[in-house]
Amino acid sequence: MLRCKDIAAHASEHIDGELNWKQSLGYGLHLLVCGYCRRFVRQLRTTIACARAVAADDALAHDEARRISERVYDHASRP
Ligand SMILES: [Zn+2]
Repeated sequence: MLRCKDIAAHASEHIDGELNWKQSLGYGLHLLVCGYCRRFVRQLRTTIACARAVAADDALAHDEARRISERVYDHASRP
């Protein structure tokens, strides 16, 4: 069973659909039993969607949106 820190480490890959079936299964099982990680993934998904929407408006450069997402992700994955 994956641990919470494994979920945080691979959250972006999960959201982008880059995990293989075995990783996805383990990921899903952990999210099924861990409300903290469900909340973390939901918040990260929202953050990424917001950053992408802003970038799509050309109000913010793509690199800037990525840096913001990475900073939020780094902050959220701290113990
Ligand atoms: Zn967890």
